[in-house]
Amino acid sequence: MAKETSDWIRLDKDRFFHTFSHLGSLEKIGPQIISRGDGIYVYDTFGKKYIEGNSGLWNAAFGFNNDQLHNAALNQFKALPSYHTFFGRNTKPSIELADQLLRNSPIRDGKVFFTNSGSEANESVVKILWMINRSIGLSDRRKLIARKNGYHGTTVLASSLTGKDYIKAFGLPTSDILYAECPHYWRYGHPGESESEYSNRLSDNLETLIIREDPQTIAGFWAEPVIGAGGVIPPPVNYFKTIQAVLKKYQIPMVIDEVICGLGRTGSLWGCDTYDITPDILITSKVLTGGYFPLAAVLLSKPIAEQLSNACIEFEEFPHGFTTGGHPVGCAIGLKVLEILLSDGLLEHVKEISKLFNENLAMLSRHNLVGESRGVGLMGALEIVADKQSKEPFPSNLDVTEKLANSAINQGLIMRPLGQSIVLAPPFIITEQQMVQLFDILHSTLDDVEKQLRP
Ligand SMILES: *Cc1c(COP(=O)(O)O)cnc(C)c1O
Repeated sequence: MAKETSDWIRLDKDRFFHTFSHLGSLEKIGPQIISRGDGIYVYDTFGKKYIEGNSGLWNAAFGFNNDQLHNAALNQFKALPSYHTFFGRNTKPSIELADQLLRNSPIRDGKVFFTNSGSEANESVVKILWMINRSIGLSDRRKLIARKNGYHGTTVLASSLTGKDYIKAFGLPTSDILYAECPHYWRYGHPGESESEYSNRLSDNLETLIIREDPQTIAGFWAEPVIGAGGVIPPPVNYFKTIQAVLKKYQIPMVIDEVICGLGRTGSLWGCDTYDITPDILITSKVLTGGYFPLAAVLLSKPIAEQLSNACIEFEEFPHGFTTGGHPVGCAIGLKVLEILLSDGLLEHVKEISKLFNENLAMLSRHNLVGESRGVGLMGALEIVADKQSKEPFPSNLDVTEKLANSAINQGLIMRPLGQSIVLAPPFIITEQQMVQLFDILHSTLDDVEKQLRP
């Protein structure tokens, strides 16, 4: 017999272990089981329609029924549905995507290594750097600098690089990890300090950390251009300029995690373009297949790729890789994604529509519950405060951002609570009219929860 919605919900509760899910809400409003999608909308098993204000997990930039991506996948499934890149073998889509990514990236001339996920990509970069250093007699050069509140995934090292308190749950980070400060001017800037003075302070502190630890022990510095899962925090003015100067001085490789920012999210093709960053290694994943297939890419600059090749001589191979990394279907979709962004004009649309997005976000900073509104391109956040002047948040037991997300759900908008902020990252294909609709719901959500809090 066909299962009904109530059966799916019961089975979900009995059998399914949800990741990163608020247990209270799961208990109270239950799981939402999504059964189909159309453009920027998804439908649950009750037939209720939602604007997907987060593009799923930042990735469904092309919406939920893009024919061009379906066809790219289908054609490749028919031509060759499975192959790998071990033992010197390869497939055409995977070679072509490596080339296209490099041509269109700030790395330009180098090599690409594919994985199935952003976490695996970050994890792989750590191993690559360690392998290179060991091969040139610098085995002690193992420490990794990441940033408080940054997010790099959930495998053991990627989780360690993630500067969130919850990694304590696993006894992480590992001993090789150091954290630089979270570059959030609104929260951590001193009174009277300008944004660029704040950036200078952060880079001075980074230099102090490097000297204290000994520059010869540091293998790399990790950063997202815009902190994503930490609450959409764009860098303060001149931040990357001053940070890069410090890294250059001590010859520490800059690893830029563009898993969210890459391929259009910040309004340019790369976050590196938006913030004028010159990475040594660049990682991209989420938009790379629009979420239609698991795939991530690590772009290595030419010098790093050469060092890695040299490091491999001792072992006669690079002893690392994933069975389905660089899967031909994922890569075929990735090629179509680049075409849609660059040749079909979607990147231009993102540039245009993100003006409307950011204007609307900025206007919401007047709302009583909003301490700061911030955003760039098609990613943004509202920081929710109890007191606009003191920037005091609500007590965490009130679950205010969870209340906001739940109220939005009731009104047909999926958006994500993240600590004391709520974040939005709508699909790139969103129209002006849909953007207006999204912000109408957001307004009414804020009003609704304000009434609940201050009746
Ligand atoms: C999502 C994310 C990752 C992890 O990617 P997975 O595919 O979930 O492993 C890594 N870095 C950043 C910046 C991310 O947003």
